[in-house]
Amino acid sequence: MSTDSDTSVEMQPSAGFSRRQALTGIGVGGLLAAAAGFGIATSPRLPKGATAALVDHHLHIQGPAVTAHLQKLLTEDSKLDAFSLLNKGAFAERTGVDALRALDTAGIGRGVLLSEAYMLSSADLVRDENAFNVEAARTSRGRLSACVGVNPFRSEAIDELRYWVGRDGVVGAKLHLANSEFDPRSSDMVDRLAAVVRECRALGLPLVIHPRHAADYSREDAETLIDQVLSQAESLPIQIAHAGGWGGLDDATFAALGAYQDAIKAGRPGMSKLQIDLAVLVQAPWADGAQLHRLVDHMQQIGLDRFLLGSDWPAIGSPGDYNRLLLGQLPLTHREQETVLTNVAYHLEADNG
Ligand SMILES: [Zn+2]
Repeated sequence: MSTDSDTSVEMQPSAGFSRRQALTGIGVGGLLAAAAGFGIATSPRLPKGATAALVDHHLHIQGPAVTAHLQKLLTEDSKLDAFSLLNKGAFAERTGVDALRALDTAGIGRGVLLSEAYMLSSADLVRDENAFNVEAARTSRGRLSACVGVNPFRSEAIDELRYWVGRDGVVGAKLHLANSEFDPRSSDMVDRLAAVVRECRALGLPLVIHPRHAADYSREDAETLIDQVLSQAESLPIQIAHAGGWGGLDDATFAALGAYQDAIKAGRPGMSKLQIDLAVLVQAPWADGAQLHRLVDHMQQIGLDRFLLGSDWPAIGSPGDYNRLLLGQLPLTHREQETVLTNVAYHLEADNG
């Protein structure tokens, strides 16, 4: 295990990903079979000349409400595959101080806390968990910012979003479409999600979206999201998590990334301030070289300036470990690395802490 991991994950050889796993909402998506049984076993160095990222755009702390929810799932369903992929540390409470410590170890200045309140099924608990994240941001002396979490299909979602707009520490909202059981093939759900995005545009509340909902995710599913949902955002900043997938690199992720690439090139509505995070795309220092080249090819086509670093801490390891794991392997030029390391999300540019 690496020396500066705050948490590490003992991955089991069964790397299949079920819908139930997505529903845990920990943020870990299709875990790579290549990494099975090892987790982050070594700490590759950053490429020569590379320094730490300015910002980790994808962090999760966890208040009492989400922690209790996960603990309950753990006792009820201890044999779920999802839980075999995460160590017990991912089920413990984590504070803003823990996040700052992880950033300090990595030499990363700022971080964005993505509230996991979207997992919860009571309006009061959702508020509590979001408050836990926002308070951590508010008391971080400008180093942490928060995106509040909502399940866009729950009745309190719009009120919850409205409540947080303009509050100190809040820079946006996080939607986890797998955890919220979004089905892009249901026109009713697509319409409801589009309405939430329109509301966020009206509120000026940027969005971070975990897009992939299922193992059989397709380019058509990504196009539905782009054409019918993201189009409603107009020039609202949007951060698409996990390079358009749910973690890991597979054909479905590349198909989705191809759809974003074409939409961006065509200047489609909603694409002007769309950025893409690179959270948990690789999980081991021996990721498939062909896949890494394929990813870099998409990054170059789309434009390096749209890609944001994010670790999904504590899903597979510390922010520093993930930085090194990813940048140590991606075949980027020195200049391209520098671009990725220094990219800052639009929703943070307006926020001076
Ligand atoms: Zn996440």
